[in-house]
Amino acid sequence: MTSRRNFVKLSALGSLFSFNAFSTFGKNTPILPSKEPVVISTWNHGIMANKKAWEILSAGGTALDAVEKGVMEVENDPTGASVGIGGRPDREGRVTLDACIMDEKSRCGSVGFLQDIKNPVAVARKIMEETPHIMLVGEGAKQFALEQGFKEENLLTQESEKAWKEWLKESKYKPVINVENHDTIGMLALDSNGNLSGSCTTSGAAYKLHGRLGDSPIIGSGLFVDNEIGAACATGLGEAVIRVAGSHLVVELMRQGHEPEEACKLAVDRIISKHENMEGLQVGFLALRKDGKYGGYSVYNGFNYAVANKQINNELVDTKFDRSW
Ligand code: ASP
Repeated sequence: MTSRRNFVKLSALGSLFSFNAFSTFGKNTPILPSKEPVVISTWNHGIMANKKAWEILSAGGTALDAVEKGVMEVENDPTGASVGIGGRPDREGRVTLDACIMDEKSRCGSVGFLQDIKNPVAVARKIMEETPHIMLVGEGAKQFALEQGFKEENLLTQESEKAWKEWLKESKYKPVINVENHDTIGMLALDSNGNLSGSCTTSGAAYKLHGRLGDSPIIGSGLFVDNEIGAACATGLGEAVIRVAGSHLVVELMRQGHEPEEACKLAVDRIISKHENMEGLQVGFLALRKDGKYGGYSVYNGFNYAVANKQINNELVDTKFDRSW
């Protein structure tokens, strides 16, 4: 006799298999959705962000809360020169921030060219939850943030101002992508309900043209989540990532059956195929699949990410890469 308990178990299995059938993974490998929480995030500062995110995930919290609160740790750190307060300004000395967030229901929010508000990822979440829109930029985004109770503050620290003034001496216009282990933070998480979310936040390329947006606030470029398949995020030269809709591409490659690392590598290959001059063009991708498998890949050496789950206590992993500097 099938007890009610067994029936519930069988129904749960049934939904797993209907997930597989629906997801059409190209290589026909059965991929079972996981409910073991895991979080990955870009660069060394991923450790600080994962610590917060893991507190939330390990207590049964949602991936959405984890990816928002996790990256806010880095936004709040004035010593980080590429995210939130302390982020490098544009060529006019103004710190302008970009961020986005996406959840398991494909809800998303994004903010670009935001000034004087240090937590753009939280503003992006408010846009997602409180407005009928996905993206707000500039003055309108700031006005919305102030109405939502965010505090106005000066984000240009003394160190950033000093570095900018140094740069002004030559003012060579070349978007400077940080490659020394501090850059955009992108975070992907899977929670104990088996749901995926992601976030991405940055001050963008240092000394960029005033008004420039990179990939980080663009859903599908800097970040993409499809709860049936997986999630991906990007860091590096935003213009190159936008050109191939990088994070969306990585998720679609996983949908076709590629392993997370392989999907990131193929997206890197695509970027390489679209650029004649790859000098200094660093891009790194991270991917987290619905079954909890994850990976990353970059154009050049030097990209790493932090991982936390039940087995791995927040450790850094160096990605494989196409070429060396
Ligand atoms: N992807 C970011 C941008 O282009 C910057 C970075 O990750 O370095 O704005």
